[in-house]
Amino acid sequence: MRNLLPATEENIRRAAAIVKGGGVVAFPTETVYGLGADALNPKAVARIFEIKGRPRFDPLIVHVADLEDVGRLVKDVPEGARTLMERFWPGPLTLVLPKREIVPPITTAGLPTVAIRMPAHPVALKLIRYAGTPVAAPSANPFGYVSPTTARQVAETLGDRVDMILDAGKTPIGVESTIIMFSGGEVYLLRPGGLPVEEIERVLGRKVKPYRGKGVPAPGTLKKHYSPRTRVVILRDWGDYYRLRARYGRVLLVLPRPVHGIEGDVRSLSGTGDPKEVAANLFSTLYEADRLGYDVIAVMPVPEEGLGRAIMNRLRKAAAE
Ligand code: AMP
Ligand code: MG
Repeated sequence: MRNLLPATEENIRRAAAIVKGGGVVAFPTETVYGLGADALNPKAVARIFEIKGRPRFDPLIVHVADLEDVGRLVKDVPEGARTLMERFWPGPLTLVLPKREIVPPITTAGLPTVAIRMPAHPVALKLIRYAGTPVAAPSANPFGYVSPTTARQVAETLGDRVDMILDAGKTPIGVESTIIMFSGGEVYLLRPGGLPVEEIERVLGRKVKPYRGKGVPAPGTLKKHYSPRTRVVILRDWGDYYRLRARYGRVLLVLPRPVHGIEGDVRSLSGTGDPKEVAANLFSTLYEADRLGYDVIAVMPVPEEGLGRAIMNRLRKAAAE
C-alpha cells in the first residue's frame, strides 16, 4: 500500500498540502482514525461522502486546532459551550452550534448548525494547523462498518481511494467523541462517546438531556451502525452463550475481562474490566473477529455508566438487525 505512511513531520506536512489542495487524507485522532478534507471546500468534502459511501444527509464533524478558529465557523458560543471547550478541549467532545455562512451546506448536510471539536492527538493538531483550514472528518471506514482504530484497518477497507493514510499506531480512546448540542437554553446529548456525560454534567452543574427531537440525522440516531458483517449478539447471561454455541458452529465470545473456565474461543477486551481498556479494544476486536469468519460474535455487556454508555451504544448498534 503506497499511500500508507508513518506520521513523520515530513509526511504530516505532505498530508496537510494534500488537504489544502482539495484532497482527502486519513489521520489518527485520540478517538478513531478520521477521513479528513478541507471543511470549507465543498468539492473536497463531497469526496469524503463518496469514498465512505456515506449518505449526504449525515453531517460531518469539523476539526479545529485552536480556540480562535471557532469564531470563524459559528455565530454564537453559549456560556456553557465555552466552559466545556475550555475544560475538555482538546478532547473527545463535539459541540453542535449555529454555523456561519463560511461553512458550506454539504459539510453540515444542510443544517443551520455545525458540529465542532478539537482532537487531542498531536498528529491531528499538526495536520489541521499546517493545512491552515478546519478539517471535516468522519471516521475513516466504509459507512456503517466498524470504525478504524489502526491505520492498517483504514488501508484494508478504503485502500487507494484515499490520497494518503498517516499511521501513528493504535488510537488511544477507541470510540468516537461525545456529541453535545446547545439549543433553546437546554443541553442535549446526541451521542455518548469518549468523554463520559457525567463529567460534562459535573462541570456544567446541570443535567444533560437525551435528545428526542426530530431532524438530526445521525449515525447516533440510525439504528444499525458500527457493525461488522458477522452477526453480533449481546448476551443476557451465560445461558444465552451456551444456547448460541449449541446452535452455531463458530462462536467468538467477547468479554470485558477474563473469566476462568469458559469453553470455546474467547477474547477479553481488558485485563481487569477497566472501561478505558474495553473501549480502546472494542472496535479492533470486532474487526478482527469479522476477518476470522466466525458465525456469531457473542458479547458480554458492561454497566451503562461513564464510558460504559458509549461502549453499550456501539454494541447495540452493531447488534441491531
Ligand atoms: P461521525 O460519524 O463520528 O463523523 O459523527 C458525525 C455525527 O455528528 C453525525 O452523524 C451527527 O450525529 C453529528 N452531527 C454532525 N453535525 C451535526 C449537526 N450540525 N447537528 C447535529 N448533529 C450533528
Ligand atoms: Mg463514523
